Amino acid sequence: VEQAFLKWLTGRLTPSPQVVVPVGDDGAVLRWSPGADLVAVIDTITDEVDFQLLHVEPEQIGHKAVGVNLSDLAAMAARPVALLSALTLPRGDRSGWQPGELARRITEGMLQLARQFDVPLVGGDTGTWDGPLVVTVTALGETSHPGPWTRSGAQPGDAVLVTGELGGSLLGRHLHVQPRVKEALAIQRVARVSAAIDISDGLALDASRLAAASNLGLALDLAKIPLSAAARQQAARSGRTPLDHALGDGEDFELLLCVSVDDAVRLIRNPPLSMPLAQIGVCVPSPGLWQRDESGRLSPLAASGYEHGETPSPRPRPED
Ligand SMILES: [Mg+2]
Repeated sequence: VEQAFLKWLTGRLTPSPQVVVPVGDDGAVLRWSPGADLVAVIDTITDEVDFQLLHVEPEQIGHKAVGVNLSDLAAMAARPVALLSALTLPRGDRSGWQPGELARRITEGMLQLARQFDVPLVGGDTGTWDGPLVVTVTALGETSHPGPWTRSGAQPGDAVLVTGELGGSLLGRHLHVQPRVKEALAIQRVARVSAAIDISDGLALDASRLAAASNLGLALDLAKIPLSAAARQQAARSGRTPLDHALGDGEDFELLLCVSVDDAVRLIRNPPLSMPLAQIGVCVPSPGLWQRDESGRLSPLAASGYEHGETPSPRPRPED
């Protein structure tokens, strides 16, 4: 697969000013902005765990593999610079796919999303084995001024904001990841974000991770959480509430951000790139995850969500 694939790939790549030595040598050489630091992220997605090869187009798998990585860069307000991919392909008699064809179509999906963010694919690896399809992408990014967002800088009194709408990602959004890269960089230019995380495993779980990293608590106003249409559709099927789906489904790939109250007011009044942005809570001194009622009283909120490695069977997929 490797040589033919490499030849195909070389023909598909467009030159990029960031790439000094492209795919084809032993390594890629990248140009970095002066003063910027490197942000490196990696994510693996596997057939029957993160997608079902039988039921999706290979391009969607490539899109997802790149999207989840770019979402992690967005969570750190990092500008994407380059992508690397590793495809471990199932043998043809196992999957019904000719490995070279599968590799090209997955990569085509990667390149489509990569192009939207002007980020070049600069290297990769392919192999074939007697197991399921495994797709790994590494994204390299550079920090933006005045520095990377982390999970750990939130202060009591900060407002908690979320981009977009949450819940029901299994109905499609978990594959059509739209990483909030441009939105993150636009916010970075106009506000001081004290802490950030992307919502990959569910609002409640990721909020509790941010709270723990910042050594404080997040108190959510549940009525203010923006519910997606998909959350309502999932609720109609599952018998749970749309709010349950928004809190626990995960794979929304929206951003959870902590900012000062002044910045929150400013951002919501005049959102950069006209992005949907809502305040859903505040940071409080008591560690943990809380829900806040209208009188301001706090009660504990379960940090439900998707824990990697703790699910015994593949995630359920929506009936289409
Ligand atoms: Mg993340």
